[in-house]
Parts: sequence; structure tokens; C-alpha cells
Amino acid sequence: MNDYLPMTINGEDAHALHRLEILNPASGETFATVPDAAAEDLDMAVAAARAAFPAWSARPYAGRQAIVARIGDTIMAGIEELSHLLTREQGKPIGQAQFEIAAAAQWAQATAGFALPVTVVEDSPEHRVETRHVPLGVVGAISPWNFPVLLSIWKIAPALLAGNTLVLKPSPFTPLAVLRLGQLLREVVPAGVLNIVTGGDHLGPLMTRHAGFAKISFTGSTATGRQVMGSAAPTLKRLTLELGGNDPAIVFPDVDIEKTAEKLFWSAFTNSGQVCVATKRAYVHDAIYDRFLGALTKLAGQVPMGDGAEQGTALGPIQNRLQYDRVRALIDDSRENGHRVIAAGTAPAGTGYFVPVTLIDNPPEDSRIVREEQFGPVLPLLRFSDEEDAVARANASEYGLAATIWTSDEDRALRIADRLDAGSVWINEGLALSPLAVFGGHKQSGVGKENGVPGLLEFTNSRTVTIRRQVAAV
Ligand code: NAD
Repeated sequence: MNDYLPMTINGEDAHALHRLEILNPASGETFATVPDAAAEDLDMAVAAARAAFPAWSARPYAGRQAIVARIGDTIMAGIEELSHLLTREQGKPIGQAQFEIAAAAQWAQATAGFALPVTVVEDSPEHRVETRHVPLGVVGAISPWNFPVLLSIWKIAPALLAGNTLVLKPSPFTPLAVLRLGQLLREVVPAGVLNIVTGGDHLGPLMTRHAGFAKISFTGSTATGRQVMGSAAPTLKRLTLELGGNDPAIVFPDVDIEKTAEKLFWSAFTNSGQVCVATKRAYVHDAIYDRFLGALTKLAGQVPMGDGAEQGTALGPIQNRLQYDRVRALIDDSRENGHRVIAAGTAPAGTGYFVPVTLIDNPPEDSRIVREEQFGPVLPLLRFSDEEDAVARANASEYGLAATIWTSDEDRALRIADRLDAGSVWINEGLALSPLAVFGGHKQSGVGKENGVPGLLEFTNSRTVTIRRQVAAV
């Protein structure tokens, strides 16, 4: 197991004067260190990316496609090592870490298949007008701690394919698998094209202010997203912001209660609820509410929580102390306000950041657990009896990332899907992301898109070329 991993700058190991400690959230103990980059280290990474840009952007598109596909192959070849690192730093069960690494490989391969469109808007005797898409330059990418590898690949693959060079900063809580990936990819990606830097809280703001970046692609919380937008303003950087969510589920009485409860359980609690598009509020029809709550409570009691490295673990810890304290504060707030709090699951004792699966029985709509993004294994269930009321309550949020609808009536589901303020709506399943389908939040869940060809285009500038043709004199 690696207990120190360097950064990648210009295709080589890069170190810094100071180091950050990395904890295993299942034990709370330090097990590795990484460089804590200073402003000069970031400058070196930006300079390397800038120097690599002319050759990389001039490389034929098919050549870049081949390299992005090989990124996918390299990730897949490293799945064993990468998934163990990921479980150790992030906490997720090993099977889910393998799933994340395999998904990252799949995303790179699918992205490599995208064509960069050229749109001919006029082709007449007078004019030929066509719009092409050209790279931006050096992109800064900032990723969070819940899916460190997958969400970094969501940026690396399209940014490089479009012809940009990149400086990526993973979260200081989960840098190891991404740093190791940086080492593995040196065999595949030319020096300077992909640089990976790590550092503490100072490093993100240094990136968003840095005049060397043409764009910042950021995934993280809405609160940080606002700061990123402010700090990118003086240099008018392009921005993609993938931010927080408070995704509603609406469950109608015509569902199979047991099967739907199980699917909704995983929609809410996969990765111990630390998923941007997790179900974070469940509106359940009055006619089945009690039985649905009973089915979820039963499941919570059966699903083993523990160290993700141990066989049989299905739910891991909260990834870091700050988030652990936040989730516990939300549960305490519910207790203090007299909500019925059902600690339905069990969590291992010890020094790890474990919170048992917790259900909150029909708290008021204006309570913190309903209004705020919990990002942990706690879910409020809310009663409804009228479709209109459910839609209105689902939409009454500053967020608009995703939503789910559970019913056997497809017409009803589609009618409601049209009215939900959400960038993704899933019917009778949750978390069903695809590299081909555009993804992005409405309202304060984000600005811009990732995935699909629209996600690729976010890493480009458009260039419209107009040719004036000879026109025969009349
Ligand atoms: P965070 O906002 O705390 O941190 C995200 C990243 O930003 C980290 O790399 C962090 O070091 C960096 N950062 C922190 N302060 C910064 C600043 N001022 N300027 C620039 N960078 C800064 O988020 P997190 O706690 O790592 O992740 C959890 C949040 O991310 C949740 O709200 C979740 O919903 C959201 N998220 C959204 C998506 C999506 O695609 N919409 C995906 C995953 C997570």
C-alpha cells in the first residue's frame, strides 16, 4: 500500500515543501501523506499545461480519441490497486470502489467515441457558414471526495478530447487514487497534458483566481460553488459548476411496496448517502406510508455497515469528520425539535465516522432535515395525499439536481417529470447516470453541463467561419 504519493507535473513526480495527512474514515487514523502544494507548485503545473497545449491541441482529433480510450483501458487495468486505495481513503465498500473505477473506465471509453460536431448553418452560392468547436486552453478541474476517481474522469476525458490541457485538483480528503491514476497515465498521456496537484484549503482559491486558466470545471457544494463563481469573475473564466442537491422522491400507492422500498433504499443510502443525486427527501403517499416506512426500517436493520475493506460490508462510514459532525447535527436538530427519529440501522463502535441509517418520520416541511442537503445516511419521509401538493413541495427548494418518481402509471410519471425542477428525472429507479446523457443541475444545483456531447462542448469555444463566395453579376 502506498503511504506517500507524489503529484504529477509535466509527466513526472512532483513534491512540495509540506505534506497533508490522509485518514482512513473507518478508523479515523492517518495512513498516508501527499504533497501540500504551494502557489509556486501550482504555477509550475499551469506552466507545464500551457507548454503542452500547442502540440496537444494540434494533434488530430482521432489521435486524441485514441488516447482518451487508452485512459479508459489503463484505469481498468489498474482496478485492483485503485479500488483498494479508494476504499481506504474514501470508506466505501470494496465492491462499490471497484464499481466506481469500472465506471470511470467506461466513461473515458464512451467519451472517446464522441464526434465534435461541425454545424453548417448556410451553404449557398453567396456564403458557406459553419460553426466549429475549438479548445479553450488550460482547464482547471476541482473534484469532491464522494466519487474522487469517477468525477475527476468526468472532467479529464472531455477536456482532453476537446484539445485542452488540464490541471486537476482532487479533494484533500481523497487524493490518493487520483494521484496513483496520474502516475499510471504517464504511459498514455503526453507530458504536461494532464497535471495533478494536491493541497489544503488554500489551493482551490489559488486555482480559481489564477490567470493561467481559461476555464474552471468544479464539482462540490453549492456554498463553495458560489465562491468559485465570485473568484473566477475578475478573469471571466468559463465555468462549469456541478453542485449540491436535495433530490425529492415521489412514491405513489400503485407500487410494489417491498421492491420499491429496496430500490429507494439504495437510491438514498448508496455510499452512505454521500451521492450528489441521492434521494434526500421521500414523499410517500398516505395510503402506503406506514408500510413503506416499515419496509425501509426493516431493510436498514439488515444492511451491514462497517469498514469498507471487510468482506460483506454494504455501507461504509461518512468520509470525513466535518461531514460526520454535520450529519449528526442534523439528526440532533430533529431530536431537539421532537421529530420521530428512527435509528433503524446499526453502526460499528470505535473511532470511525459511522452514522447508522436513520429515518425521520414525517418532519415538518420547514425543518432543517427537509430543507438542507444532508449528504449522509439519514432520510426524511414525508406524507402526501395529493399529486399537486407533492409536486409543489418537491419543487420548493433552492436546489434542482435530480428527482425520482415511483409509480406503475407511466403517463402520470411523465406528466410529473415535465413539472419537476430537476436536471435529471428517473422513473422507477435511482442514480441511473449514463456517459451519453447530459447531466447538470437546475437552480442552485449548478451552472453548465457534464456528459454527453453537450458536456464535451463545454470544454470548447465556438468559432463560426463565414466564406463569402463569388456571386455572378446580374
Ligand atoms: P466542497 O465544495 O467542500 O469541495 C469540493 C472541492 O472544492 C474540493 O476539492 C475542495 O478542496 C475544493 N474547494 C474547497 N473550497 C474551495 C474554494 N473556495 N475554491 C475552490 N475550490 C475549493 O464539496 P465536497 O464536500 O467535497 O463534496 C460534497 C458536495 O459536492 C455535496 O454538496 C454534493 O452534492 C456535491 N456534489 C455534486 C455533484 C454534482 O455532479 N452535481 C457530484 C458530487 C458531489
